Amino acid sequence: MQRLRELARLVEAVFDDLEQTFSNYQQQTGLTCLSGCGACCNNPKVEATPLELLPLALHYYDLGQAEQMLADLQQYSGFSCFHYKRHSLDGLAGQCSVYRQRPAICRMFGAASVGSKDGKGRLSVCKLIKQERPAAYESVIASDCTDAPRMSHGKSRIQQLDFRLGQQDMPINEALIVALEKVLFQSSFSDTESTGLVA
Ligand code: SF4
Ligand code: SF4
Repeated sequence: MQRLRELARLVEAVFDDLEQTFSNYQQQTGLTCLSGCGACCNNPKVEATPLELLPLALHYYDLGQAEQMLADLQQYSGFSCFHYKRHSLDGLAGQCSVYRQRPAICRMFGAASVGSKDGKGRLSVCKLIKQERPAAYESVIASDCTDAPRMSHGKSRIQQLDFRLGQQDMPINEALIVALEKVLFQSSFSDTESTGLVA
């Protein structure tokens, strides 16, 4: 369990760095998210690795809610992120209920560089930001856009911390299930060790 906690601390340190980098870029260019918007959280295609969900899984474990959260997720039939709280019927307005523990992908979304076939990367901007902030978007497009932070670099910084847990992207709710199972398995093993039942 100690190893998982140390791993989570390393993941969180990268989270903080990514958040700063991507947020600074979005502030500098004016390509910031719309107030109250949560449209991307309402999308079933959001994917993350179990490693990105490890801090959240440990958070639930420390609250004594890991088993319950695992059961809730296994029964969840909604299509969007389990932790998205909708504020409108169409789901476009809302907020994250686990903002401090949200995975890396959620800290990089909005305006960033994504991979292109020539390996140089290209600017990718959320279509709502493009619509609402056309002047900022045109201004960034008119520049060479090479200073946009790369999402793939952010992902690989996390992945390098633990290749097994960080290797596979999957729907965000499934990634949390895997992370919770890992934490619960490790905790039961630790409990057995502490009672001296493990040779
Ligand atoms: S974890 Fe939070 S920010 Fe990420 S998709 Fe879910 S609700 Fe949105
Ligand atoms: S990235 Fe786009 S869809 Fe997501 S919260 Fe920001 S403005 Fe909304």
